[in-house]
Amino acid sequence: MEQQTIHGHTLEEWIDRHPALDRITRAKEVVWLNPKYQSFKDVRASLSLSLEDIEEAAARFRRFQPLIATLFPETVEDKGLIESSIIQIPEMQSVLSNHYRADLSGKLWVKADHQLPIAGSIKARGGIYEVLKFAEHLALEHGLLQTSDDYSLLAGKDARALFQQYGVMVGSTGNLGLSIGIMSAKLGFNVEVHMSADAKEWKKKKLRSVGSKVIEHEDDFSRAVTEGRQAAQEDPHVYFVDDEWSRDLFMGYAVAALRIKQQLETARIQVDEAHPLFVYLPCGVGGGPGGVTFGLKQVFGDAVHCFFAEPTESPAMFLGLMTGMHEKVSVGDFGLSNRTAADGLAVGRPSGVVGKMVESMVSGMYTVRDEHLYQLLRQLKDTEGTYLEPSALAGFPGPYNLIGTAAGKEYLKQQELNDEKLANATHLLWGTGGNMVPEEVKQADYQSALNQ
Ligand SMILES: *Cc1c(COP(=O)(O)O)cnc(C)c1O
Repeated sequence: MEQQTIHGHTLEEWIDRHPALDRITRAKEVVWLNPKYQSFKDVRASLSLSLEDIEEAAARFRRFQPLIATLFPETVEDKGLIESSIIQIPEMQSVLSNHYRADLSGKLWVKADHQLPIAGSIKARGGIYEVLKFAEHLALEHGLLQTSDDYSLLAGKDARALFQQYGVMVGSTGNLGLSIGIMSAKLGFNVEVHMSADAKEWKKKKLRSVGSKVIEHEDDFSRAVTEGRQAAQEDPHVYFVDDEWSRDLFMGYAVAALRIKQQLETARIQVDEAHPLFVYLPCGVGGGPGGVTFGLKQVFGDAVHCFFAEPTESPAMFLGLMTGMHEKVSVGDFGLSNRTAADGLAVGRPSGVVGKMVESMVSGMYTVRDEHLYQLLRQLKDTEGTYLEPSALAGFPGPYNLIGTAAGKEYLKQQELNDEKLANATHLLWGTGGNMVPEEVKQADYQSALNQ
């Protein structure tokens, strides 16, 4: 009988080459160090995007602040800035240190992107940036706007009449759909969010309530997205937001790094070689964590160490980076289901462009079981009173993986991160979403955590 192969090799051969696959294919948690990780000094020059590109994106966000403040009253206090705070979580740190039986000597913080205004998730960075950039492009092109203007004029009749002639389209079952849908509809675009049939009911309801069209696809959702992309290419009045690779999404995420720099300074947290910053990012298709990592590396260089986290059933970026096959590999190829309660991370195939862009910037990756996500959900709620959606908790085991596993310890050794540096370290868990989740769903999540 012929042996089954995966991209030309038997599973045994794959495991021989990448031992971590043994656990990955059995859907067990695993920690992996990226052998392609390099000092940023050696990476910077070869990149197609730079710090100036991030600054340009940040400047665009600034131009839009008066408009954002006009359209979204919740942002008035921050003058239209779409940003979240960093929050220290000492209670959670002591519960986790107990739970994992490992004393974390640095300080544990959360980047509270679940509180981001407008969309309540990290997608409020990339998604909103992309829609704003498109709107600016149209308004400039039609002579309605100059970059020196007060952009709140885009809330007026003329701009609205212009935007109503255009369609914005996105395929997403999750937070990207919400972010694009809410922002586009607010500006007056005809927005269509394509969703698979298993998309959560509350998300569809929310989108319809803000004036977005929701199109559900019974069977082949990915074909629907491909067709949408095609249709948009042929029609200049339709703009397609491409979750798999979009430079604009990526840059919108990257701006977070400039903001973090300021926030850390304000909090008097030092970041340099002797005071390392560890960042733990939940990863789906890769744009969010990839963009943030790209930005952080530009800002902090080798003083920042970025780890990506994925569910055990959906380690798409993990497989892409480890095999070097990027978008050519899917979790299904290795027999995994891509079924997880972390719906923001339920991605079968990673973005190849993002993977290639960050493959020497990511320190490592690890996977997290759904039960573990729920345990963290409950612990965070109990200690800090904060709800995060399951996806957003994937980063949380990261600091303990670093100090408590063989792979983690190996990383500390390789990078010469001794106890003294670790005592000075800041561990930043990226809390990627949660505030848009309806109260009854939050409670049901907490209940499932109690029942398991
Ligand atoms: C989208 C999302 C992520 C990951 O972003 P990708 O760009 O898909 O990698 C993480 N957490 C939440 C809650 C998300 O919605």
